[in-house]
Amino acid sequence: MGSKRRMVIAGNWKMNMTPSEAKNFVGTLYEKVKNNRACDIVVCVPAIDLPIVAKMCAGTAVKVGGQNVHFAKSGAYTGEISADMLVDAGAKYVIIGHSERRQYFGETDETVNLRTKAAIEAGLTAIVCVGECLSEREQGITEEVVARQTKLALLDITPEQMKQVIIAYEPVWAIGTGKTATAEQADEVCKLIRNVIAAKYGKPIARATVIQYGGSMNAKNAAELLAMDNIDGGLIGGASLKPDDFAVIVEAAQ
Ligand code: PEP
Repeated sequence: MGSKRRMVIAGNWKMNMTPSEAKNFVGTLYEKVKNNRACDIVVCVPAIDLPIVAKMCAGTAVKVGGQNVHFAKSGAYTGEISADMLVDAGAKYVIIGHSERRQYFGETDETVNLRTKAAIEAGLTAIVCVGECLSEREQGITEEVVARQTKLALLDITPEQMKQVIIAYEPVWAIGTGKTATAEQADEVCKLIRNVIAAKYGKPIARATVIQYGGSMNAKNAAELLAMDNIDGGLIGGASLKPDDFAVIVEAAQ
């Protein structure tokens, strides 16, 4: 059974593509997905690529996002980027709390929550990443970890603001490793996330919330993952840099 929600397929380019490379790449990508209106297509690009990619994608089916946002409006935060800056550069979405940011840049559940609030207040849709690492799965505490991350990310987010929240379930052991969660494993955790949302906001909001799977999603496994009841799209790293593969994933989300 497919999901009842409109799917969102989001590419995460990570730290790849200079602005000139991005310009060429996004033109090729757009050509491959332009006829698809059945799902939302997003490319989350390095901040420096946002203006050119947003310009190239203006008026097309492809929307643009950032990969991180700071929680302050502005100020002495060298190297960070504010929500207003993202919006001004053409972003509509932003990834928050990706496991690479949690692992390498000290992102915590608390800062994920602050960044989520800042993104929403600026009008962005926040793609909030949660997911257990391998040792946590092996210890049997996946549900506990993911429920906790989800609850803390959503602290003080109002029911109305939930329209601007996407949760991406990304088991850390599946990111960039070629190891995908089985469709059943992924659906089970996405369902758990939906139950956490239902407990806080009620069933209608839980039913309306987009919950993506991410972790080595590719042209071969996307259809099976996206067919699961609780999986409403994908956050895609490696395969989002291969236009043919990304187009197959977009196609699978119809
Ligand atoms: C990601 O970066 O969010 C991701 C899921 O990467 P990959 O698809 O390469 O595993």
